[in-house]
Amino acid sequence: VTESSSTNKRILLAKPRGYCAGVDRAVDTVERVLDKYGPPVYVRKEIVHNQHVVHNLRERGVVFVEDTEEVPEGSLLVFSAHGVSPAVREAAERRNLRTIDATCPLVTKVHKEVNRFARKDYDILLIGHEGHEEVEGTSGESPERVQLVDKPEDVDQVEVRDPSKVVWLSQTTLSVDETMERVEQLQERFPDMQAPPSDDICYATSNRQVAVKAMAAECDLVLVVGSQNSSNSKRLVEVALQSGASSAHLIDYASDVDDSWLEGVETVGVTSGASVPDVLVFQVLDYLQERGWGDVEEVTTANEKVSFALPRELRKDLDENP
Ligand code: SF4
Repeated sequence: VTESSSTNKRILLAKPRGYCAGVDRAVDTVERVLDKYGPPVYVRKEIVHNQHVVHNLRERGVVFVEDTEEVPEGSLLVFSAHGVSPAVREAAERRNLRTIDATCPLVTKVHKEVNRFARKDYDILLIGHEGHEEVEGTSGESPERVQLVDKPEDVDQVEVRDPSKVVWLSQTTLSVDETMERVEQLQERFPDMQAPPSDDICYATSNRQVAVKAMAAECDLVLVVGSQNSSNSKRLVEVALQSGASSAHLIDYASDVDDSWLEGVETVGVTSGASVPDVLVFQVLDYLQERGWGDVEEVTTANEKVSFALPRELRKDLDENP
C-alpha cells in the first residue's frame, strides 16, 4: 500500500453500479418471507442472477427449484425477479401453491406491452437472448405472436403477416447500442415497424453502461463484478471493451482475479452488475489495494433514486399479521 503514492496505479469506480431497485426488492421479498414464515421457502429459479446472493439465501433455508412440480402441494413459492409466463402461474395454481411475485415491475411492464400489442393482433419482434428466463416469461404471454430476435442473422428469419402491424420490444438487460443495431436491421425489412411506447431496456441497465463507457477509455483493465448468467453484467464487459478498455473480465469474487491480468496495468476500472451487492465490489478494491493500487476515484454519471414497493400480496400479509 505504501508504494501506491509513488506509482500511477489508480482505481476508477463506476457509479451507478450494483443493486438496482428490482433486485433490491426481490432479495428483500425473500428475506421478509423467510423472517415471516421461516424455512423452507421455495423460489422458482435463482431469485436474481448472482452466485453470492443465491448461496447466502440457500444457507438460510431457501430452496431454489427449476419447476413448480418440485414444490410440495400447498407450499409458498416466490417467483424470481425475471418474471414468469402465464403457463407457470397456472401450473402453480394447479398445485395449490401460494405465490408471491417478485418479478421486477419493469419486466412486468414489458409483459403488459406484449399483451397490449397481441390484443391488437400485431406481430411482436422481441429482441433478447435465447434461453434467458426473462425472455421465456415475456414471450410466454403470447407465444403465437412473439418471435425472438437474438443474433443479427435472426432478422432474416422473421416472418410477419402484415408488415404494417409489427412492433419491436426487448429484454430489459441488453446492450443499448447492440439493440439499436438490431432495430435498424429490422427497420430495413419493416419500415413501418413500431417502437415500444417507452424504453424496455431498464434505467439500471442503461445507467451502468453509460458509467462504464465514461471510464473505459482510461482503463488498462476493467473488472466487472457479476455472475456468468447475469445478462446485464456480461453486457458491461462488452461495453467496456467496445468503449476503449484494453481488457475486461467478469468475476464473481476478488479471488477470481488472475494476477496475470494485472501485469503492466496502471488504471483499473471497477463496476458491477445490477444483481451484485456492494460488499463484493469492496473486496475487489481491497484486493487491488493490497497489490499496490492506491486512490479510488468514483466516476459518477447518474444518481439513482428509484425504489419499488414490496409485492402487494406480501405487504398484505405483513400488515394483516404484524
Ligand atoms: Fe428490474 Fe432492470 Fe433491475 Fe432487471 S436490471 S431487476 S429490469 S431494474
